Amino acid sequence: MMAPTGRGVRTPGACLSPPEGRPPARRRPGNGGTRVAACRTLRPTRSAAPLSILGCVLLLAAAAPAAVTEEASLAARRAAMVRTQIAQRGVADPAVLKAMGAVQRHRFVPAGQLGDAYDDRPLPIGYGQTISQPYIVAAMTESIRPRPGHRVLEIGTGSGYQAAVLAEIVAQVFTVEIIPELGKTAQERLRNLGYRNAAVRVADGHDGWPDEAPFDAIVVTAAAEYIPPPLIAQLREGGRMIIPVGAPFFTQMLTLVEKRGGQTTTRQLMPVRFVPFRRAP
Ligand code: SAH
Repeated sequence: MMAPTGRGVRTPGACLSPPEGRPPARRRPGNGGTRVAACRTLRPTRSAAPLSILGCVLLLAAAAPAAVTEEASLAARRAAMVRTQIAQRGVADPAVLKAMGAVQRHRFVPAGQLGDAYDDRPLPIGYGQTISQPYIVAAMTESIRPRPGHRVLEIGTGSGYQAAVLAEIVAQVFTVEIIPELGKTAQERLRNLGYRNAAVRVADGHDGWPDEAPFDAIVVTAAAEYIPPPLIAQLREGGRMIIPVGAPFFTQMLTLVEKRGGQTTTRQLMPVRFVPFRRAP
């Protein structure tokens, strides 16, 4: 949900209070969507059957090329996004670039925003929240040095997009969301897209996910005024955490935390703007 303010990238202030979005689409790739279901509900009489079948075939024949063309165009835009917004700005980890190219970002944005899914900016996902700018997702993912065997905690599930990018690379993703509706929708979306290694929990992320700790890495995608001690405690020795730290509604610093010998060191990477890391009511 944010844009960096450095490296020549725009910082849209609108990302802090976006308008409510429509519920996200949850189509599965290649399942024919409602068109196949419509054909199944026809109850043709004997004589009408051939006509109904013909109707379905014609409908599918007319619809299929349009769907294929749309998917191809979205895939081309996704490839361009990886090249121009991410690789050219310095993200170099091949696993991260591959994951950004693989995750269908358009399935994580509200239906009305489909055409904007690969734009160089955050987008509203409803409930006053946003899906982060693609470059920020890639930079944060690269910063924790994700490896195939890792177990990673994300705080701030939102649409589930960052969790999906992580799930393409690491063994297991645990993600916590404070808004129940967003958590539920993200959980269904991740399941429908086949991400069996991503678990969603609705809770206050300040507490982390104690039952699943320790984690090899932690990604916080909401602006924190301080680094919550439970998150440091749940980070494995040698682990890395990336978290935007600063005042809500202003610019924060994307901060990399490393834990070595029981001590933590922090390094500020770049200025960013995220939605606030809230407290449970
Ligand atoms: N990572 C998301 C974007 C997250 S936007 C994506 O890829 O789409 C920030 C999210 O953090 C919002 O969904 C917001 O509801 C959530 N959030 C804010 N405070 C939180 C808290 N205390 N615990 C868990 N989630 C929180």
